Amino acid sequence: MGSIALLEKKPHAVCVPAAAQGHINPMLKLAKLLHHNGFHITFVNTEFNHRRWLKSRGPDALNGLPDFQFKAIPDGLPPSDVDATQDIPTLFESVDRTCLGPFRELLAELNDTSSSKVPPVSCIVSDAITSFTLAAAEELSIPEVHFWTASACSYLGFFQYAKLMEKGIIPLKDASYLTNGYLDTVLDWIPELEGIRLKDLPSFLRTTNPDDFMVKFVLQETQRARKASAIIINTYQQLEHGVLDALSSFLPPIYTIGPLHFLDNHVHDKSLTDIQSNLWKEEPECLEWLDSKDPNSVVYVNFGSIAVMTPEQLVEFAWGLANSKQNFLWILRPDLVSGSSAILPSEFLEETKERSMFAGWCPQEKVLSHPAVGGFLTHSGWNSTIESISYGVPMICWPFFADQQTNCWFCCTKWGIGMEIDNNVKRDEVEGLVSELMAGEKGKEMKKKAMDWKKLAETAVTDSNLNLENLIHQVLLNPSI
Ligand code: UDP
Repeated sequence: MGSIALLEKKPHAVCVPAAAQGHINPMLKLAKLLHHNGFHITFVNTEFNHRRWLKSRGPDALNGLPDFQFKAIPDGLPPSDVDATQDIPTLFESVDRTCLGPFRELLAELNDTSSSKVPPVSCIVSDAITSFTLAAAEELSIPEVHFWTASACSYLGFFQYAKLMEKGIIPLKDASYLTNGYLDTVLDWIPELEGIRLKDLPSFLRTTNPDDFMVKFVLQETQRARKASAIIINTYQQLEHGVLDALSSFLPPIYTIGPLHFLDNHVHDKSLTDIQSNLWKEEPECLEWLDSKDPNSVVYVNFGSIAVMTPEQLVEFAWGLANSKQNFLWILRPDLVSGSSAILPSEFLEETKERSMFAGWCPQEKVLSHPAVGGFLTHSGWNSTIESISYGVPMICWPFFADQQTNCWFCCTKWGIGMEIDNNVKRDEVEGLVSELMAGEKGKEMKKKAMDWKKLAETAVTDSNLNLENLIHQVLLNPSI
């Protein structure tokens, strides 16, 4: 911070997360760290998420500090009062097509010396999948850094899409390729991902449509990443060094700053720590319930902010958990079940009432770091995965979409801390895997490995802090970039 204090004007970073919970959380943490290091921050949400944020946290939630301000731009979709995750392809298509104009206007407003009370914008920190911001950074001749909020291994997976197209592997020839075993094809030509199956790569490739928006979007965003001044990834070297080396061979300089929640824990300014980014209201009662349980005796079940399941899958998970006879804390997000609210069988609720706890949304980091939690049944979102790794909690993985398939593959085959559950979930498999995780030999081995990764995550903080400092001085404060 020392040299920043000597600057004539405070540097001003505009932080633009992609419009989903798993992107807003890490971007807010990074923004707080930059603020802690002397930056003025403008944090840009979509109007839809800004409204939900205010609703879940109260109207004063975002009035934190004079030099940490929140702004909102429209996402281009019709206004809506719904409190649920938006359809991702529709949202991303709309943001990509419509947000540059409002973003330019916002930057002009911030830079208008006649009315603006904030220092001129000096850099943009954009989610790697909101790269429409690049054009604005180029126009202002300021550095733009891309923050890839998922794993490095999944990023490498997304970079294979161009090759998969070139090789005629995607789009899939017809719908039968989704079910005829083709997705089990082993790909042996990708350095650092040798042995990966097509179905372990990020899921948007599962399309027969040559004009599929998500495939085009992946190609566009991976191409544009090469134009960023630098790339930030929420991971650490020991966990993903081979993959990081592979990415470094063709990307701008990469700065790993993970596990980001460990760095963020060092920000003690209360007006900053009070700013939390949940779009759902947290139910902290589950922490008291965990307090009443023995160490390593609870399975924590949470499928993140986007994954949805059918009512049938919900019931299979429920009976699998019941039959495992383990304690469990299950977070049932209000929009978790497609087409209806989550209705659990009354016999199941009766049978498990002594050893179950339910909530709609929880303070996940506090849950995962609670000594009572012995395992995590997860959808393998990257934030959940790295949070779990850093608290030494082994996982059962039920990947839903996007990067989650690749995270799951790494957890199960490379890091030794995960067991995959079939997408077509059945209660016997849930029961078997949960029992193994909590009481079996494999579960013990996974716990040991998870504790090893936790120790490495703790020691990685020193390097990650240094990387952040280097990022600030080499890139964000460097107008020549
Ligand atoms: N999260 C939380 N409480 C919940 C569920 C999720 O705080 O009940 C947080 C979690 O800690 C993580 C994020 O929401 O930071 C979810 O991101 P992830 O990448 O795991 O999954 P996504 O929601 O993007 O699918």
